[in-house]
Amino acid sequence: MAMRMSTLFLRTLREDPTDAELPGHRLLVRAGYVRRVAPGIYTWLPLGLKVMEKVKGIVREEMEAIGDQEIAFPSLLPREPYEASNRWTEYGDDLFRLTDRKGADMLLGPTHEEMFTLAVKDLYTSYKDLPLGLFQILPKYRDELRPRAGVLRGREFTMKDAYSFDVDEAGLEAAYQRHRKAYTRVFDRLGFEYVAVHADSGAMGGSASEEFLAVMDSGEDTFVRDESGYAANVEAVQMPVVPVPTDEAERTALWGHLPAAHVEDTPDTPTIETLVAAANADHPRADGREWTAADTLKNVLVVLVHPDGTREPLAIGVPGDREVDAKRLEAQVSPAVVEPFETADFEQYPDLAKGYIGPGVLGAERATGIRYLLDPLVTPGSAWVTGADEAGKHVFDLVHGRDFTADGTIHAASIREGDPSPTGAGPLRLARGVEMGHIFQLGTKYAEALGLKVLDQNGKLVTVQMGSYGIGITRAVGVVAETHHDEIGLVWPRELSPADVHVVATGKDAAVLEKAEELTAALEQQGLTVLLDDRPKVSPGVKFKDAELIGVPTILVVGKGLAEGEVEIKDRAAGSSRAVAVDAAVEAVVAEVRGQ
Ligand code: ATP
Ligand code: MG
Repeated sequence: MAMRMSTLFLRTLREDPTDAELPGHRLLVRAGYVRRVAPGIYTWLPLGLKVMEKVKGIVREEMEAIGDQEIAFPSLLPREPYEASNRWTEYGDDLFRLTDRKGADMLLGPTHEEMFTLAVKDLYTSYKDLPLGLFQILPKYRDELRPRAGVLRGREFTMKDAYSFDVDEAGLEAAYQRHRKAYTRVFDRLGFEYVAVHADSGAMGGSASEEFLAVMDSGEDTFVRDESGYAANVEAVQMPVVPVPTDEAERTALWGHLPAAHVEDTPDTPTIETLVAAANADHPRADGREWTAADTLKNVLVVLVHPDGTREPLAIGVPGDREVDAKRLEAQVSPAVVEPFETADFEQYPDLAKGYIGPGVLGAERATGIRYLLDPLVTPGSAWVTGADEAGKHVFDLVHGRDFTADGTIHAASIREGDPSPTGAGPLRLARGVEMGHIFQLGTKYAEALGLKVLDQNGKLVTVQMGSYGIGITRAVGVVAETHHDEIGLVWPRELSPADVHVVATGKDAAVLEKAEELTAALEQQGLTVLLDDRPKVSPGVKFKDAELIGVPTILVVGKGLAEGEVEIKDRAAGSSRAVAVDAAVEAVVAEVRGQ
């Protein structure tokens, strides 16, 4: 049955919604696909639901094609399984928690590893039952700190999550590759540019993992690529770490020729810029080169808040011309969250000279006892200008390994376009994207926590190897909207369009509507889905504007030309139109929709 604009539950808006920061989001609201209920919580109207169902259909088809079976868990879940995996605590404030009338703790599922693990434990006992792949397509709930861009980052959002169960690691590897292939097929069909990148596995745990990012300048994730085909989320980039040598000869070779460290007066230089200026003015380099920010070592303090609420200060040393990248840092300290080191924190550490903090007081063994980690860019044998832990003083020629060491390494410095790639294959290039899918080799993390074991061929109990594979369904609709529009409206790829063709009847003539109805029926007869603008007393101008806003790729206009036996076929993406004889219209539209 055609959707009729005269009765469709839809009101298009001429004005942009005030809370929409990205163009695709604005258009989804204006064209009547979604309506906001609360921050990050959306209602899907008929047109939006059609698109969402198409995305689900593609995903479902590709999951079933690799043999995964669909099931559905509740969203409302008991605490216990999440307690067993420790995620009741680790998920922190992102978890929607509630209490039932008897006082029992419940949650709204943010992801369902625990439930799938328990379901398989419930039914299966033997290696003969495996391999197994299960999936569901269901709303998920996360109390995101910053819901964003409508359905791109919601607090309720629909995800497809799949899980694989195998008796050994080889099985897991095969399942992972199977899902990886299915993902490339899904994203090829969804029609946006994407890239598979090495990822950090974050709160999920486990080892190997990759993300599929939709390439988009307004994306929240930054990723790097090099010429060898290596691609990684910046969160997951691990730069080579050079250890401080223990061998005496090696140590001498590294820094034996370097001048001894010396403390200098550098009044009023609490920032890198003021320090560099003062160093050049008052303490010029012996080799005649200018000091730059890259010669300074910046020690950044933060507070890690662990899931159990404990607060741990942390100092991070990075070259002064770089920042501490919040995302890289967060990924590495997860599940702890990062908070700023405040004035009140400074008061607890009198040995910290704000603006002049140096390695002299940092580290578990030193005055403050604050754990001190260095970015690998601070290589052993490199000499630095850094704080002397006294207001107005800096230490020069301080050599890593000779004059100071840290408690460990952290990959936290901001990565820049042109930085050397960790693979050695040419410089890194940076781009931004939106995470559309994430595949993980979980290993035994959840199976262990929840006791999922099966008997292997030798009758021995072994822990099941699991993988987990997510795709953001509602986010995909958002990404397609962001990547498929122009100034006047949405332009859906054919496979996702809410209808195959938008038939627009214009003019008051009764014959026009009659013909439009007739063509609609004939198109449906051919298996096409139709959105029919049959609204009486709505001007052609308004109808055309709505059709452009809604974004069905093929528009069939039945109007003025009918008297001469002609209708018009418009191509929404190209903005072009052509007249065809009424009698040839159905055939022409079908050919266009089917790409013939
Ligand atoms: P992000 O880093 O964007 O928060 P995530 O790492 O938390 O994502 P996963 O837990 O791996 O995401 O979830 C699987 C998929 O679900 C993601 O790849 C993404 O497509 C989608 N997704 C995650 N969070 C949201 C959200 N708040 N709104 C819409 N989709 C989401
Ligand atoms: Mg997230």
